[in-house]
This record gives sequence, structure tokens and C-alpha cells, in this order.
Amino acid sequence: MAIVISGKKLSQQKRDYMKNEVIELEKKYGKKPNLAVILVGDDPASASYVKGKEQACIEIGIGNITLRKPATISEAELLKMIDDLNADDTVDGILVQLPLPKHINSSKVINRINPSKDVDGFHPQNVASLYLKEDGIIPCTPKGIVEVLDSKNIQIEGKRVVVIGRSNIVGQPVAKLLLDRNATVTIAHSKTADLASVTKEADILIAAVGKPLFVKENMVKDGAVVIDVGVNRNNETGKLCGDVDFDNVEPKASYITKVPGGIGPMTITCLLENTIECFIKHRKD
Ligand code: NAP
Repeated sequence: MAIVISGKKLSQQKRDYMKNEVIELEKKYGKKPNLAVILVGDDPASASYVKGKEQACIEIGIGNITLRKPATISEAELLKMIDDLNADDTVDGILVQLPLPKHINSSKVINRINPSKDVDGFHPQNVASLYLKEDGIIPCTPKGIVEVLDSKNIQIEGKRVVVIGRSNIVGQPVAKLLLDRNATVTIAHSKTADLASVTKEADILIAAVGKPLFVKENMVKDGAVVIDVGVNRNNETGKLCGDVDFDNVEPKASYITKVPGGIGPMTITCLLENTIECFIKHRKD
């Protein structure tokens, strides 16, 4: 039987700590960190993510403004909003909820955010910092995954890590963070031949695929640590589920995360952490 690592519990501990940190920062600077979120359109999943972020800000006492705009907003108007937020000294972090409507070039929008306010860590300057091991903002989900491993003192150095998924927001950055912690890292993707033989090599297996219950027990080595990043709807039950077939994989794993209550809450917690970091850096500069 595996130990189930609760990202929800870990998040709560971190948020309790951050609550006090925010109080101390307000005493010291007479201001508290402030996050601006831009939500374009009325996609229910995006609206629900943004609501989660708003609630988390309220919970730890940081300021939060959500700017809701219709899907018809022009790219130029959106870029102007970002320029205004970049220039606004009361705003420490800017997040544009993705995906954006098709007529808007997402890269152009992300690239317009001042890198020092880019709390998602998606701006090319922050991406470069990650790859060059320079000071920058680390994307929230990969950061949360590493914190989950560290919370149980799971050894990373010297271990074989397999990440399934090579997206810019999860797969590649988490692979880089773990490489920097001296793991031997393989990134698998949809063109990987004989995926199960690759994943069975993993001491730490990270699933970021976006396919419900994709990772089966025959893909997992006995005693592996299994981290499930996926957020999907179960095709049969309609309930939220991960990329890992938890019920069948759990008996083989040493540690495992569950969906919901695993990496999801840590992503939001790391967003709060990044906002506080930006606030502190802005005051040091
Ligand atoms: P994505 O951009 O769609 O990337 C999915 C990756 O999975 C791609 O690299 C793809 O390979 C690979 N893949 C697809 N089918 C495969 C197969 N049959 N075998 C092996 N690899 C396969 O997704 P993402 O944005 O990284 O997100 C992944 C999952 O994590 C989603 O469920 C998403 O909702 C979830 N997520 C959760 C959080 C959180 O906070 N918990 C945050 C972000 C994302 P190719 O590159 O070859 O197409």
C-alpha cells in the first residue's frame, strides 16, 4: 500500500504560514501583495480556476483584482490592459487565464507582461532563467510537484524520473527542475515507442498527459513514486479524475498523489507564493 501524499494538506500548511507572512509584510511595508487576474470569455473551466485563485488570495489575505472581459475583446485592448497593469505600482503579479479566444495571440499577450510580475512564470525571460539556472519565476505546477516530493523527503538525486508529457507549462519545466536536482530524467510523449517499458524504469513517474486513467499498473515499477498532474473527467462517471488509474496503481507505488486533492491545490498555493515573492522583489529593487 502506498502513502498517499495530500497536496491539499500540504497546501493548507503552506497557506497558514503565508497568512502570517502577509501580515508581517503589511506591517513592514504598509501594503500587502496584490494579484491581478485577467479572465477573457465565459469558459466554465477557466471561470472555476479563477474563482479558486480568488478564494485562495482571500484566504491568505493578499489583494486580488479580477478583470473579466468578453470573448470579443480585441488583442490591442488586452495588450493595453496589460500595459496598464505593468505600470501600476499597486499590482505585484499579473496572470492571464489561458486559453484565450482564437483571435488573440497568446504568446504576444504573455510576452507583454512585465517579467517581474509574471507570476505564472510563462514569459520567455522567466523560461530562460529556468533553463539557465538564473533567478526568475518558476511556473506554479512544476514548483508544486517538487514541493510535494520534498514534503516527504523523497530522494531525487540519482533517481530515474520519467515525465509523461512535454508541455511548456508542466512536462518540460518539471523535467528541468528535477534534472537540476540531479535526477536522470526522461521525457515521454505521444510518439514514444513502447511507453510502458520506459515508464517501468521510473523511480519517480510524473503523469502530465491529460487522459483519464491513462497510467495503468503494468506501466509502473514496484515501489515507484507516482505523481498525477492530470485533471480530467472520468468518461464513465463524469467525476474529476487524474491521468493515473489510482485504484490499480496505488498498491504498486510507494508514494502516490490523488486527483482531486493532489497537485491541483499546490499549483494555486505556488501561485500565491510567487505573488509574495514578486512583492518582496519589487520592494528590494
Ligand atoms: P498538454 O499540453 O495537452 O500536453 C499533454 C502531453 O501529453 C503532450 O506532451 C502529449 O504528447 C502527451 N501525450 C498525449 N497523449 C499521449 C500518449 N498516448 N502517450 C504519451 N504521451 C501522450 O497538457 P498539459 O497542459 O501539460 O496538461 C496535462 C494534464 O495536466 C491535463 O490533464 C491538465 O488539465 C493537467 N494540468 C493540471 C494542473 C494542475 O494544477 N493540477 C496544471 C496544469 C495542467 P505530444 O507532445 O507528443 O502531443
